[in-house]
Amino acid sequence: MRAEIGKKVAAGGKCIAPAVPDESHSAAVPGGVYLCQVGDAVSCGACCGLYNCADASRGTLEDLIAGRTQAFRRVPRDADAITDFQVRMERRNPGPRPYPDFYHCPFLGFIDAGRRRVGCLLHPMADGNDGIDYRGLSFYGGLACRDYFCPSYRNLAAPHKEIVKAVCADWYFYGLVITEDRLLNAFFSEIEKRLNRSLTMADVLPHADSRQAVLEFLSFKLDWPHRMPGARGPGNYFFNDGLYPKPPIDYARLGVAPSALDPILHELSSGFNRPEAINEAENRIEGLLGRILRPIVPPGPARTC
Ligand code: SF4
Ligand code: SF4
Repeated sequence: MRAEIGKKVAAGGKCIAPAVPDESHSAAVPGGVYLCQVGDAVSCGACCGLYNCADASRGTLEDLIAGRTQAFRRVPRDADAITDFQVRMERRNPGPRPYPDFYHCPFLGFIDAGRRRVGCLLHPMADGNDGIDYRGLSFYGGLACRDYFCPSYRNLAAPHKEIVKAVCADWYFYGLVITEDRLLNAFFSEIEKRLNRSLTMADVLPHADSRQAVLEFLSFKLDWPHRMPGARGPGNYFFNDGLYPKPPIDYARLGVAPSALDPILHELSSGFNRPEAINEAENRIEGLLGRILRPIVPPGPARTC
């Protein structure tokens, strides 16, 4: 039954990522930049449903993942015991989920001693597995878990991926932002439009304030004041089946033209009830764009009058 489910979901294109790197994978990932496991404290488990919980706040997820990691240490590595663990953990984390058709896998745990990095507890390299791959026992099945790469792999330019990786310092934040491929593309495209060329890592990373401005923009995922009430999240639904589109911004209701920054505002799940709020939102984003562009756009000629 589990294998059938895994096959069915994989065939529908909604499958799951390798949460601990295989050497064979990192050598040839789509887009050439490995995104799943990035550093000592930076990794992602978003496609395993990490944020698809009724309460996906940092503290709650930390407790949930730490608890199941601890519990899994005591689980004998046999099919019945692992399935029993799965059922128990599913009961501990009941819905409603923000995206009801998207699974939250209870085998996502902390994979380092310091509990700073999320990854797959069934992976052959994870603690206690002695090199045996148990991912075939998961909801999605081993093939889907091993071979899935989210749209960010294919849709983001390599320098943009590297910039995001460089400014993110922890798993909770990183997984939320790296999977926002449309938001990131809208943001970096706006910079490149003004720059009239592609953005490079060297344009941003050597400049402390540019890095900080990128970080402040990414932090809008957590604290965007114009977020529409009731918007799903905080995790993004990035699968390509169009199940949960972000609603468009209703400019006509306010009697104003669409914002020039609409692609960004839309991907931030913005909602406005007065035109001034749109201006405020635009000004916040413009301020960050200006700080990123300042070190790389040559100053105009000095004014003489
Ligand atoms: S969502 Fe993307 S980056 Fe995150 S674990 Fe899955 S494949 Fe990797
Ligand atoms: S078994 Fe679960 S945690 Fe592991 S890769 Fe598959 S979906 Fe992710």
